[in-house]
This record gives sequence, structure tokens and C-alpha cells, in this order.
Amino acid sequence: MGDLFKNIDDEEFADKFSTNEDCLHFLADKKWEAGFVCKKCANTNFCKGKTLYARRCTRCKHEESATAHTIFHRCHIPLAEAFRIAYMVCCNPSVSTYELSRQIELRQMTCWKLKSRLVTCLKSRGEVDILSDPTLI
Ligand SMILES: [Zn+2]
Repeated sequence: MGDLFKNIDDEEFADKFSTNEDCLHFLADKKWEAGFVCKKCANTNFCKGKTLYARRCTRCKHEESATAHTIFHRCHIPLAEAFRIAYMVCCNPSVSTYELSRQIELRQMTCWKLKSRLVTCLKSRGEVDILSDPTLI
């Protein structure tokens, strides 16, 4: 996962992650790469959930969204913008939140919150693992 954005340039990034749906699809793909396992009952059968790319356990009906347990969970900003921040921070961990705020046109505090999650990730594992929310550890 740390390699996520490593071989991607700006153009490719813009192309691959231009919409919220692209980002959700990507997260769901990565997260359930090895198959779905229900967090509540460990069942591996699922059906579609209520939200896009969410999965619902067929046994206990527990539903997991594509962003649950990732650093993008409850992020309050459009996923595509959050991905852009993640991309910019991965490319340049010392980028200032003012710069992020200027480029992405979001409040500096919003950028700061997400960046601090990303940096916590970077520090704790030497890489950014967007599939794991450091605030949950
Ligand atoms: Zn279940």
C-alpha cells in the first residue's frame, strides 16, 4: 500500500482518481482483494450494501462501507479531494497544509486534520497505509 502513489504521476492520478466513485471503487478493490470477511461474524458471503461499493454480510446483515476502517472514514470532504490530499502528502510529506488548502480549495483546518492522519501513518509504519485508520489503533 505504501507504493500506492509511487509510480503514478500527476496526469495518471487525475485520470485514475477523478471522481468519488473511482476512489470508492479503488478502496473496495484493495480492501477486499483477498476476499470479503465479515468483521462481526467472519462469514465470507456478501451481497450489495446500501451505499456504493459497500458490502453486506448475508448472515448477520452487518454492512461495511468501502471507506470503513480506512483513513478516509468520516472524512467529511468528497473522497476525490481527500485522495488528492493523500497523493500530495505521499509525494511530498513536508507539504504545508496552507499549500494543500490553496491547491485543493479546502479549509486549512480540514487539510490539517487529514494530513495529520496521513503523517501518523507515515511515522508509525514508514509508509502510508490508507487502508488502515491510525486513529483506530
Ligand atoms: Zn456477518
